[in-house]
Amino acid sequence: MTSQISTNGASTNGAAPQIENVVIIGSGPSGFTAGLYAARANLNPILITGNDYGGQVSITYEVENYPGFPESVTGPELVEKMKTQAEKFGCRVEFDYVTNIATDKHPFVISTQNGKEYVAKSVILCTGARPRYLEIPGEKEYTGKGVSYCATCDGFFFRGKDVVVVGGGDSAVEEGLFLTKYATRVRIIHRRDELRASKILQERAFKNEKVEFVWNTVLTEVLGDADGKVIGAKVQNTVTGEESEIETDGVFIFVGHLPNNELLKDKFELDEDGHLIADRFMRTNVPGIMAAGEIMDKVFKQVATSVGQGCSAAMQTNKFLEELEEAGYPGVDQDPREFRKAEIANKEAIGTW
Ligand SMILES: Cc1cc2nc3c(=O)[nH]c(=O)nc-3n(C[C@H](O)[C@H](O)[C@H](O)COP(=O)(O)OP(=O)(O)OC[C@H]3O[C@@H](n4cnc5c(N)ncnc54)[C@H](O)[C@@H]3O)c2cc1C
Repeated sequence: MTSQISTNGASTNGAAPQIENVVIIGSGPSGFTAGLYAARANLNPILITGNDYGGQVSITYEVENYPGFPESVTGPELVEKMKTQAEKFGCRVEFDYVTNIATDKHPFVISTQNGKEYVAKSVILCTGARPRYLEIPGEKEYTGKGVSYCATCDGFFFRGKDVVVVGGGDSAVEEGLFLTKYATRVRIIHRRDELRASKILQERAFKNEKVEFVWNTVLTEVLGDADGKVIGAKVQNTVTGEESEIETDGVFIFVGHLPNNELLKDKFELDEDGHLIADRFMRTNVPGIMAAGEIMDKVFKQVATSVGQGCSAAMQTNKFLEELEEAGYPGVDQDPREFRKAEIANKEAIGTW
């Protein structure tokens, strides 16, 4: 990937701000991958980490499913390797948090908690997401030691074991079914007496001999042993108020996936759950602003998929900047945010949105 883009408008006396080619927001796997590809395309990117340096993977004890690490790798180690690799090619990493993106003019203006302002021709949004927590005693303590938010990531560790799944929506039932590949028994604990999950998933779960349902019940505490491993949970019946304890080896929690979209509301197209809508070229509805990772992907939610999307977003950004340069920027007689306006208006017809 090559680019002839130079950093125009660079300030020497502090009067005029330097215009960056691209600002990447977020330091999870998608952000660092976008940083790596943008740096190797000579875009001299800046990556702003946010308050959760390394993103969700940095709270993951062991990553066994990221290609290239047959012996597995810890989340923090993987993050450090990604950062080092991006920096090696010139990605600048700033420990700061973005508080606003002005999209009503071009170049975009990105403001941060530390009082800085970046002026940029393009932006890659990699602000990710977080699982909704139950916020009960033991949950945080045993995360990675029996408490999980990802069956694809951790199901393998529960071969021949008993697990419970908390939730009643599509994710809970789908992930519960996935866990039956490994676990001997999967109890789905739901606060109500019927599921919110789609009928087809419900039918599959009802038919599966390994799946049991525990209705009208909430988890109130995760219990562990002296070795720091989950051994059970305290539960409460939501109808009778009765409390009891159950034994289990694992607690999988699927009560929601919350996109980090605080910056995006009222500026970007979001879906009903608040995830950014991006097309298959990782373009948002604001020309010049791309997205990658869990902020726009609520389906696959993996390190490998986020990395792939970060790569695509950086490549698409390079293309946008090349088009901008071809159009004679700066001094372009057309606002670059006008690019693709007709296409966006016609997005249903093109069917790729
Ligand atoms: C407990 C757990 C275990 C997991 N285990 C695995 C596993 O084993 N294998 C696997 O493939 N996947 C695993 N995952 C999923 C994987 O971690 C995610 O798919 C991946 O981290 C998503 O990457 P991302 O770059 O989209 O965003 P995230 O990792 O969510 O990172 C988002 C980044 O955006 C930053 N940010 C947010 N708002 C702002 C702002 N306003 N300004 C600046 N920065 C901002 C945050 O600080 C953070 O750095 C796990 C997830 C969890 C929660």
